[in-house]
Amino acid sequence: MRLDKYLANANLGSRKEVNKLIKKGDISVNGDIVKSPKTDVSYDDEIYYIDVPIVLEEFIYFMMNKPDGVISSTEEGPTETVIDLIAHPQQGELFPVGRLDKDTVGLLFITNDGKLAHQLLSPKNEYYKMYHVTLRDEVTPEDIIRLETGIELKDFTTKPAKAELLSPKEVSLSITEGKFHQVKRMFSATGNEVVRLKRTGFASLILDKTLAEGEYRRLTEEEIKNLN
Ligand code: URA
Repeated sequence: MRLDKYLANANLGSRKEVNKLIKKGDISVNGDIVKSPKTDVSYDDEIYYIDVPIVLEEFIYFMMNKPDGVISSTEEGPTETVIDLIAHPQQGELFPVGRLDKDTVGLLFITNDGKLAHQLLSPKNEYYKMYHVTLRDEVTPEDIIRLETGIELKDFTTKPAKAELLSPKEVSLSITEGKFHQVKRMFSATGNEVVRLKRTGFASLILDKTLAEGEYRRLTEEEIKNLN
């Protein structure tokens, strides 16, 4: 990565501002003053602004309990996104892996690791997404069988899922797909309506119950290892 990009990513200033610092001789790489913004640097290099170390993280992994009313896309716009909720100098590199509807709450995995995201989202890997679904009406044993076997929707038939009745109007549903509004559409096909949707699991991650909606934390080493 170019030195000016590294410094700007570390929030030392805009590209223009960090270029000035570099040209002034305020930046050193592995003990040597460098004056070219194009200098190639990596995460292993020791980079200092005068005597302040400028440390960038190569890989960042967060688990968030997404709140209601916040979108999970990263497009610029007036609506608050899940990334806006994260305080980190490299916030601009982060993105959520997969999307949840604006009114869906629960587990969202947020990272800057594009390779891992690609692996987790690849349909051929069939990672589970687990949801706690609250319904308007009672769910029948026949509905559970239909959900588990596969439901014919307008554009496709869902793959076999795991469905467990938690109470007459609550279901734990695990699916390997992630099509647009999939869970809501599956229940709508049974004549019911989802009134609350919370994601509780994604691949090997389980939502940390101590996280309130809108809170996030770093993944543990163990969680990162299990995801890879
Ligand atoms: N299915 C939905 O209908 N909505 C979500 O946010 C996630 C899965």
